[in-house]
Amino acid sequence: MPVSEFNLIDQYFKRSLKNQTVNRLGIGDDCALMHVPDGHELAVTTDTMVEGVHFFAGVDAESLGYKLLAVNLSDLAAMSAKPVSVSLALTLPEVNESWLRDFSAGFFQLAEQFAVDLIGGDTTAGPLTLSVQAMGLVLKDEAVRRSGARQGDLIFVTGNLGDAGLGFKIVSGYTGIESTNAVAHFHRPQPRVKEGLAIRHYANACIDLSDGIASDLKHILKHSQVGATLDWELLPISPDTQEYIQQTGDWQLPLVAGEDYQLCFTVSPEKLDLIDIECTKIGVVQQQPGLRLSRNGRIEPIEVKGFEHFSK
Ligand code: ADP
Ligand code: MG
Repeated sequence: MPVSEFNLIDQYFKRSLKNQTVNRLGIGDDCALMHVPDGHELAVTTDTMVEGVHFFAGVDAESLGYKLLAVNLSDLAAMSAKPVSVSLALTLPEVNESWLRDFSAGFFQLAEQFAVDLIGGDTTAGPLTLSVQAMGLVLKDEAVRRSGARQGDLIFVTGNLGDAGLGFKIVSGYTGIESTNAVAHFHRPQPRVKEGLAIRHYANACIDLSDGIASDLKHILKHSQVGATLDWELLPISPDTQEYIQQTGDWQLPLVAGEDYQLCFTVSPEKLDLIDIECTKIGVVQQQPGLRLSRNGRIEPIEVKGFEHFSK
């Protein structure tokens, strides 16, 4: 028997609320109700994934549910917000129960890891499009913005650069290397929630890496009206990605490949001792505008662009 829209929501998406002091009312009414505790602000972000644009048709629904939530939690992490609630807009070509079961399993696997409540959404028929709005609590005036980088700050990144990019190459047919690690990074990025909360005590600016560091770091530089030089020799690159670079000569991959969802942040020199997370120093913020790369003893501008949806 086909499920109606309402049964579908009850069956696959309605769960008991974990953050009941914040989420006063969840799925079922015309709106959800949220309470923002004193001394906090609400950080809000939305990310959409469209079949054929952000993921291949037929991709495993469980990974898709996981990744859809992960990319949204990554945006909250980049502003030092603690995730508390999400809403989910699903546009589905058909009601496919095994797809829904897998998708919601992946989605809630990550939601439960961070105690995030799904408090509402919308379900419509149409070409497969998945959208999440995520909400997080941040202490008043403590959100780490893109605009705070200062000349002399050092630039740091969590994790490794380029693994998701290598994973994408592999799922797209590259056979020179087998890397379950890289493929896992591509399908199930780990949002840096813990790190995002920690850095609010010392970071001047932060962004999460969705389009590749060469592209994303430029947003910090532009908003902060500064420039920077990255040191290629300092970039954290996993053994598998190093092997890929040796095979192909594609040394730019860690700079331009997207979807790593690591955090890139800047810290002024007098606060370096406060850093309490695993991260790697990769460069320095400078007065001179633009982004440069130091490699093999030469310093040159980085011209590469990240992915832009409406660029021709
Ligand atoms: P309305 O027509 O008033 O917008 P809907 O009939 O679309 O309400 O949805 C009924 C309830 O189910 C609402 O509380 C809505 O937030 C929730 N909901 C609908 N679709 C989803 C979904 N995909 N995930 C989570 N909650 C959903
Ligand atoms: Mg209504």
